[in-house]
Amino acid sequence: MNLLATTTRRQCALATIWRRATEPQQQLLPRSFSSTAPARTDFTHAVIGAGVVGLATARALALADPSSTTLLLEQHAQPGTETSSRNSEVIHGGLYYGPDTLKTRLCIAGKKSLYAFCAQHGVPHARTGKWIVAQNDAERDALERLHAACKAFGDDVPTRWVPDREARALEPAVHAAPGGVLESPSTGIVDSHALMLALRGHFEDAGGTTALRARVVGVEPLGGDGREGWRLAVRDPASPESETATITASTLINSAGLGAAAIHNLIVGPSSPRRTRLYYAKGSYFSYASSTPRVARLVYPVTLPGMGGLGTHLTLDLAGRMRFGPDVEWVASADDLAVRGDERLPRALADIRRYLPGVEEAALAPDYAGIRPKLASEGAVGAGKGFVDFWIRKEDGYTGWVNLLGIESPGLTSCLAIGEEVVGLVYGRRAEGGG
Ligand SMILES: Cc1cc2nc3c(=O)[nH]c(=O)nc-3n(C[C@H](O)[C@H](O)[C@H](O)COP(=O)(O)OP(=O)(O)OC[C@H]3O[C@@H](n4cnc5c(N)ncnc54)[C@H](O)[C@@H]3O)c2cc1C
Repeated sequence: MNLLATTTRRQCALATIWRRATEPQQQLLPRSFSSTAPARTDFTHAVIGAGVVGLATARALALADPSSTTLLLEQHAQPGTETSSRNSEVIHGGLYYGPDTLKTRLCIAGKKSLYAFCAQHGVPHARTGKWIVAQNDAERDALERLHAACKAFGDDVPTRWVPDREARALEPAVHAAPGGVLESPSTGIVDSHALMLALRGHFEDAGGTTALRARVVGVEPLGGDGREGWRLAVRDPASPESETATITASTLINSAGLGAAAIHNLIVGPSSPRRTRLYYAKGSYFSYASSTPRVARLVYPVTLPGMGGLGTHLTLDLAGRMRFGPDVEWVASADDLAVRGDERLPRALADIRRYLPGVEEAALAPDYAGIRPKLASEGAVGAGKGFVDFWIRKEDGYTGWVNLLGIESPGLTSCLAIGEEVVGLVYGRRAEGGG
């Protein structure tokens, strides 16, 4: 399949969407997925946000029912330019999120699906494995607990103690306390841009339509609760004077990442007790311009309660280049993407030197940052009460609204499984995997 060719075919600008939505044959599409009242809408499904999760979800919806029509709306000129291209590109093993959580279930299912998808469709990836390294007894105890917790998941989340001698032979530059290296062999890395290109190609090949420069500025549940569908007001953010287009869909999927709380609040209204908000935990990265010391796998410090992230770790890109990050810096705005090297680099360096003492300070440079869309505040996270699961729900009191909030890590790993989860919610069946 020629991905580049397919990705341009069904892309359309707002004016085209507007035309499509007003063409008679587009206006009278029956909803094909539900036994509820027969709404007549322009599209069967509208997915707001073309990050990796929105793309995977739109693809899953388009593949689930060939008679359905799915519109994917993205405010920027290209898909995936927000959090989905500002992360570590790690395929997570599923170690950290505890039993009976969506994050664990979707990470495990997503990891399996993602490896299979990448292999089948030529998306660059590598099963690098990762080491989590303890530097003292307290961290070693925390690793013991992590290892025991992973055992409960059996083969789904394999972990292994790396004997000291083997650790020294494999990674002489990496420092750990005696007996302090735990390996996650199922962790890997993926080219997130190639992944998104493939997802979009599949979506559009399955008949889906991507609308770029299409910012959703209004959402109205028709029939009071969405039983007659959803009306979206859409504008081109690059042309403030442009007309607002109105589009209707039978279901609405809010996958707007950092903008998801704003969409949620548009739906519940200004005085609703269900209004919500996100907190922003920025993670800055540092590039590394030296070829020494050399490390062949991902290396993470031990994650302790209250950190808000997994700790400033060492990741590799697919060319084997090292980078470090992300740290955690709580910020007031989702637009605050500047990497403040003067302030952040010394702290990151101290963290990195604990496990990689030979790191060359002069080779580190501020790189890019991403922002975690958190559902808990800095205070709650700092007090160790910050674990909040993915919020992926068909919202009570509404018909046909699936809401995705707080899709932080491991959202990239989980994207295919999240897509299947949403299909399950929309069509009223349990998701079985993430393929
Ligand atoms: C620092 C960092 C490191 C991470 N590392 C990893 C990792 O290694 N592995 C992993 O599995 N996960 C990781 N994650 C998490 C992962 O990146 C996210 O879970 C994932 O990218 C979320 O995808 P998304 O589609 O939900 O959101 P996004 O990528 O943010 O996409 C949402 C889209 O919605 C659009 N949008 C917003 N509002 C509107 C609107 N009103 N109208 C139209 N469009 C709108 C936005 O423009 C955006 O393109 C990391 C996250 C961060 C911040």
